[in-house]
Amino acid sequence: MKRRFLIAGNWKMNKTPEESASFVDEFRKRLRPVGDVDILLIPPFTSLDRLGGLLDGEDIALGAQDLHPAPSGAYTGAISVSMLIACRCAYVLAGHSERRHVFGESDEIVEKKLLAALAGGLRPILCVGETLEERRAGETETLLERQLSTAIANVDADTMGDVTVAYEPVWAIGTGETATPDQAQEACEFIRAWIASRFDDAIAGRLRILYGGSVKPENAASLLGEPDIDGALVGGASLDPEAFAQIADAAALREEAA
Ligand code: PEP
Repeated sequence: MKRRFLIAGNWKMNKTPEESASFVDEFRKRLRPVGDVDILLIPPFTSLDRLGGLLDGEDIALGAQDLHPAPSGAYTGAISVSMLIACRCAYVLAGHSERRHVFGESDEIVEKKLLAALAGGLRPILCVGETLEERRAGETETLLERQLSTAIANVDADTMGDVTVAYEPVWAIGTGETATPDQAQEACEFIRAWIASRFDDAIAGRLRILYGGSVKPENAASLLGEPDIDGALVGGASLDPEAFAQIADAAALREEAA
């Protein structure tokens, strides 16, 4: 089954609204026609409204880095699904490794966020991935299974179509160390097989699985050539319009060759 590539840029805590708008300008100048590739920008909350206006109706989707599961109320500092939708977000990250490891988010919180996103009409990108210690101890698959099974415990087959999974080994995020295409493929293949056993082959066949962890223009084509990798979640390299456009281009070339 043919799946559309998704190339997503997670800007983390970078860029003011003004800098975000300049990025879009520069990126549009550099982006070559990408055919069937979906492009997604994930700026900080403070840039969402501005970019929502700029990207409205265009071929670049908008996503948020996080959400709070409650619809509204006394949650100082938090942002709800309806606020994100009002900024024209279509996607939201759930369980990014920095949320898990820096902010201490548990699998249970990630599940609540994922369910709230789905219930409110956002498409969650569920991030999963092992630390270096877990990989060295041979626990990668156990960890992936734990993160997946908790996050989607209450997701039904119909809604699973709105979920994207991003395999992001913690040891490769922001470190400059990339998983080899074989390592990334092995984990993404495991994720797809696990989804097939939890649901069925058709749902697993439609699921988009992204790889994230130091993706750059130099390594994008080889990672995107793997059969179970359907796109990239890009951090550092997505801050540079030229580098991010080159990664989108690598996906478009892979798409054409398929
Ligand atoms: C990320 O933020 O999800 C990420 C993969 O970062 P980087 O590309 O910088 O490793």
